[in-house]
Amino acid sequence: MKRINHWIGGKSVPGESGRRGPVHDPSTGVQTAEVDLASAAEVDDAVSTARSALTEWRRSSLSQRAGILFRVRELLDANRGRLAAAVTAEHGKVLGDAAGEVARGLENVEFSCGIPHLLKGSHSEQVSAGVDVHTVLQPVGVVAGVTPFNFPVMVPLWMLSNAIACGNTFVLKPSEKDPSAALVLAELLREAGLPDGVFNVVHGDSEAVDRLLVSPDVDAVSFVGSTPVARHVYETGTAHHKRVQALGGAKNHMVVLPDADVAGAADAAISAGYGSAGERCMAVSVVVAVGGIADELVEAIAARIPGVVVGAGTDPDAQMGPLVTAAHRDRVAGYVAGAAGDGASVVVDGRVSAPAGAGFFLGCSLIDRVRPGMAVYDDEVFGPVLSVVRVASYDEAVQLVNTNPYGNGVALFTRDGGAARRFAGDVEVGMIGVNVAIPVPIGSYSFGGWKDSIFGDSPIYGPDGIRFYTRTKVVTTRWPDPATSVIDLGFPRTR
Ligand code: NAD
Repeated sequence: MKRINHWIGGKSVPGESGRRGPVHDPSTGVQTAEVDLASAAEVDDAVSTARSALTEWRRSSLSQRAGILFRVRELLDANRGRLAAAVTAEHGKVLGDAAGEVARGLENVEFSCGIPHLLKGSHSEQVSAGVDVHTVLQPVGVVAGVTPFNFPVMVPLWMLSNAIACGNTFVLKPSEKDPSAALVLAELLREAGLPDGVFNVVHGDSEAVDRLLVSPDVDAVSFVGSTPVARHVYETGTAHHKRVQALGGAKNHMVVLPDADVAGAADAAISAGYGSAGERCMAVSVVVAVGGIADELVEAIAARIPGVVVGAGTDPDAQMGPLVTAAHRDRVAGYVAGAAGDGASVVVDGRVSAPAGAGFFLGCSLIDRVRPGMAVYDDEVFGPVLSVVRVASYDEAVQLVNTNPYGNGVALFTRDGGAARRFAGDVEVGMIGVNVAIPVPIGSYSFGGWKDSIFGDSPIYGPDGIRFYTRTKVVTTRWPDPATSVIDLGFPRTR
């Protein structure tokens, strides 16, 4: 059985805790590896390695850091296929989706290649006689990153590229469900010339995370995962005086106004609802059909579902892979089973169309006449299940979106520019798409939801990433006028 070790100080380090977790190929259901689950002492080793590497790394020049990041960018680009294969093997998503995730992660490295520009401070001359003020952006220190299973390459890159570019050292705790991709990243970072100890990986579960949250040598924590864990990470980390950003779960609505192009909206609902088997924090979970468009829209989505080929992630014909674990597949199937009993109408039941075999498959489900109060609406399903809520008006649609506790992403489909503009102002959601179903910001903007989709005030990556991974100093200086200087400068006093 393959064993997946930690990566500390630039090399693979076998775990010694005696605890290991299973890793599966979700398309066959077969266990393919065991991952080491770190003890608190092993977490401490990784953190102290990162702490030791900090002194030298934070003093490295910006051109040195940018040079390494440019090499990281080239190596990630050259290894897209290897990274995508590592993702598909343990997550299950189809190779095309996995390659897309690598491409989106690369954007973050490209952004951080501009670190000499991004770390420019500000300067005010002569705020008082002979007095100037300038700011300096310095690294926070040792950063811990805790990441979810659904983007095992992209989400670590959201964090580590900016954190390292800013002069911090990093300890990544990836999801124990698909841990191998993090080690491919570690190897590529080393190959790019990143000094040993600047980037480390500890595998583990809540025991490892809880140690990172209280470790006195961890200065900041970046977390992405479900809302209950995000809340725990934020409360525990800040109680231990750490800077914490914690991005949580989601329930994303796609509002379709009566004037929308039905075919375009249905295509978008299919790819945003069922892509990556719905295991995306920006997946569309609820289609909100406004006014008289509902029947036509439901029919158009249902008609497209048989065209979604479900199969192993490595099958070039497959468009949707399995879910990550058997337990998660069963949980998602439970929402479909419960919906009819709650009074909704199951238009397409993905349980009956799932490919046979031991893989963790589920087909696409479409559930109409869903309402708040039903479990399939209230909970984050995180699977290939689209709910349709029918509302009478634009105002009702906005109210539905705004009373939902989550506020990650939302999309509006319309041909009316004025309605789109008003919608962007009205909704209490962090990321908004107009005729764009999954509005994930590009790497030069920041990513973050509102309400229960985030704890703390810092979105991730982009400009907010640089702000999160730096501390600002304001330096006020007074220098005597040259005329009164003890040194003869050889030129007349000018001011
Ligand atoms: P999860 O919260 O179960 O796990 C995330 C990380 O936390 C993992 O590394 C896990 O080992 C660790 N963890 C789990 N339980 C813990 C506990 N009790 N104490 C401490 N650490 C714990 O999330 P997941 O199932 O891996 O990922 C899916 C979730 O992540 C969904 O809710 C999804 O919406 C969310 N997500 C959010 C974003 C975003 O940007 N907002 C992005 C991707 C995923």
